[in-house]
Amino acid sequence: VADEATELVCRALSEVADVLSTHKDELTELDMPIGDSDHGINMARGFEAVREQLPVLEKGGVPAALRTAGMTVVSKVGGSSGPLYGTILRKLGITAKKMGGLTLDSFTVGLDAGFKGIQELAGAKEGDKTMLDAMAPAIRSLERSVEAHQGIAEALDAAAAAAAEGAETTIPLIARKGRASYLGERSVGHKDPGAASFAYCMAAIAQAYKN
Ligand code: ADP
Ligand code: MG
Ligand code: MG
Repeated sequence: VADEATELVCRALSEVADVLSTHKDELTELDMPIGDSDHGINMARGFEAVREQLPVLEKGGVPAALRTAGMTVVSKVGGSSGPLYGTILRKLGITAKKMGGLTLDSFTVGLDAGFKGIQELAGAKEGDKTMLDAMAPAIRSLERSVEAHQGIAEALDAAAAAAAEGAETTIPLIARKGRASYLGERSVGHKDPGAASFAYCMAAIAQAYKN
């Protein structure tokens, strides 16, 4: 029987798969004007593959579940978002292991490690109109919540709201990384699909915690 933390992680992965499937067309449409119209398809395919693995993932611990889910996302997504989301999952797993379990604190540190991992891997920084623009405010919100000893449900809700706001802030930006950067100034006026998908993932995690 899986422990509670592993069950929570699997519930969150399942909720992420649900939300990405619900918003698949919308995410693909966001990728139409500034990309190659596949972001929703990519993300939904990756996390559907993770969902199929859940019966196996539930039997391991948190680090193994996150590491395996990360590898699956990298191999199934195809697009550049695959290695980026894979990095987040892998870093969350490594950090949970290092910090002796999954807590709001280790989740926050792990997400920040994912952010830094993406920066290293893909060379983007906050303000480049990528998923990092949704991640950064979510991480800052979580750090404030940890500092203030806020409850986990409240903290995750606040982080999801911060990520959604962060995704909105990408609209007026000029893309500096990824496919959208090929458009230069013509990327202005469109929301970054990866920032939008990250905000949906944060909302899914907050929802899974309440279920
Ligand atoms: P692809 O661009 O290969 O078709 P997707 O459409 O699945 O991949 O994902 C596009 C999203 O990936 C972008 O909206 C952006 O948020 C993110 N992304 C792409 N390149 C980078 C990068 N260099 N750094 C950070 N995020 C990136
Ligand atoms: Mg694309
Ligand atoms: Mg593509």
